[in-house]
Amino acid sequence: MIIAVIGPSGSGKGTQSRLLSEHFGIETISTGDLLRKEIANKTEIGRRVEQYVQKGEWPPDSLVVQPLYAKLQEINIAKGFVLDGFPRTGSQVGLLDSLLGEFNQKLTAAIHFYLPTDEILNRMRKQRGENEIRPDTDEEVIRQRLQSYIDTIYPIAQQYLHRGMLISVDARPSVEEIFRDIIRQLNLITSKQ
Ligand code: AMP
Repeated sequence: MIIAVIGPSGSGKGTQSRLLSEHFGIETISTGDLLRKEIANKTEIGRRVEQYVQKGEWPPDSLVVQPLYAKLQEINIAKGFVLDGFPRTGSQVGLLDSLLGEFNQKLTAAIHFYLPTDEILNRMRKQRGENEIRPDTDEEVIRQRLQSYIDTIYPIAQQYLHRGMLISVDARPSVEEIFRDIIRQLNLITSKQ
């Protein structure tokens, strides 16, 4: 079982990834965590991605794929895993297929956490905290980030929808309700595979 989790920051995808990990006894691989580790360890990749990650921008695909590839070599990939934060761009959808193909594996399903745009904006604002010095600029940055999120996430979700492996869940109900919804849809998908 290899499950990709896609959705905006603050959508609860981290929590649901953890629950899925526990439920299936598999690990969660978060590309955000992998990149933060590279930065903390002051590796060559870490040095190159630092600026992007600190600003919440996306480093080039190649710099994200390298630590992900290394991690996949480390784990028992046949057991499966939850992938949090990848793919994040349309091009990463194909990259993930190739990457898994190298290990003779295939993605089982992709979970998209749906939130209305107002709600994404609110959660993004909350995440930035209250101690910002220039609220106007921050608001502009947040709106740009929302737009780039919308521009990229929907084409990704569409690709998985066409392949019959998209699980779209409303990210607003309780943690338990969302998890039940995921498991129900996951059962439907795996029963057809
Ligand atoms: P996250 O913890 O998922 O919010 O990711 C933190 C940061 O890591 C993001 O803001 C990006 O800078 C970077 N990052 C994580 N995953 C990816 C990815 N798949 N592609 C590009 N950048 C990523």
